[in-house]
Amino acid sequence: MITASLHPRQHEREAGPRTDGQVSRWQDEMADAITSPEALVAALGLDPQLLTAAHAAAAGFRLRVPRSYVARMRPGDAHDPLLRQILPVAQELEEVADYGIDPVGEHAALRAPGLLQKYHGRALIITTSACAVHCRYCFRREFPYSEQTGDAPRWSAALEEIARDGSLEEVILSGGDPLSLSDARLTSLTDALTAIPHVRRLRIHTRQPVVLPSRVDDGLVGWLATLRLPMVFVLHANHPNEIDAEVRAACARLRASGVTLLNQSVLLNGVNDDAGVLAELSRRLFEAGVLPYYLHVLDRVRGAAHFEIAESHARRIAGELSARLPGYLVPRLVREVYGAPAKVTLPPRFPNQEPG
Ligand SMILES: *Cc1c(COP(=O)(O)O)cnc(C)c1O
Ligand code: SF4
Repeated sequence: MITASLHPRQHEREAGPRTDGQVSRWQDEMADAITSPEALVAALGLDPQLLTAAHAAAAGFRLRVPRSYVARMRPGDAHDPLLRQILPVAQELEEVADYGIDPVGEHAALRAPGLLQKYHGRALIITTSACAVHCRYCFRREFPYSEQTGDAPRWSAALEEIARDGSLEEVILSGGDPLSLSDARLTSLTDALTAIPHVRRLRIHTRQPVVLPSRVDDGLVGWLATLRLPMVFVLHANHPNEIDAEVRAACARLRASGVTLLNQSVLLNGVNDDAGVLAELSRRLFEAGVLPYYLHVLDRVRGAAHFEIAESHARRIAGELSARLPGYLVPRLVREVYGAPAKVTLPPRFPNQEPG
């Protein structure tokens, strides 16, 4: 059940040490992430006047950002498009009509604890609440993870349900960020899924290769090498400044492991609401071996209203974007519509087109 009363993301310590007792570099980096507004302001030389609001907004949904991601921000620029995605601000505390705690109807889509299905043939496991970064616009920022990712045997109900339903040919690992899990836990999950005969494809929705590229290490590559099912990673980058040499190297390793790489973005006011920025994002993704997949309009989660772009404007941006790039570099502008059998495509609007 999705209820407002439970505080989300109670289980933040997912990764744990490796089974051999060693801690990987990415685990160190995750533990060393910036979680205090003071540390963020100091790292970037920002105006300390931001702190009061940052503390107030972070009380509801904690600040969290890896240092390697902060290093891609422009020092001293409070409007940096990467900073804007992670800095808690006063507007988050404003109550706005139509912005709720379950904006995309996930409560109704629960088939078993931690298992969501909305669309034919594929179901989504909420594997963990932990993320390397906390995105202020996240539609699951109010998700009651403690109920849906419980403790061991946490995935058994989801796995049983998948095994029971022969129509499920694809399983999506989501969260939180599934790559917050240790390699050993990922292995046990994918082993269990591979043992289900009707499961033909695996998919992971993850932001880690972008925000914490050190996660794509020898251990992860070793796990991928054991997989017997095709694997798709849907990454999540919103701005071209997120794609640096380390991210390109991480993507290259994933591709060398046979992973199909796609990207989804969220159209965000003050971050990427510009066809030129989105076109450059597509080019950089392509250079990293990643194809754009979806461009989501914002889901109306409480605390994120200041990121919204009106649908008519979103369609104009999408029209301008598709006028600049080959079709395979244009993500589909989509909205999540309650009860619809697929994500709903919003048609691009071209400059000389009649309104409609
Ligand atoms: C978005 C979503 C998917 C994936 O949809 P695709 O169109 O296959 O990318 C699957 N399950 C749920 C519950 C979703 O919200
Ligand atoms: S990484 Fe994904 S799940 Fe985690 S906070 Fe960001 S958008 Fe939400």
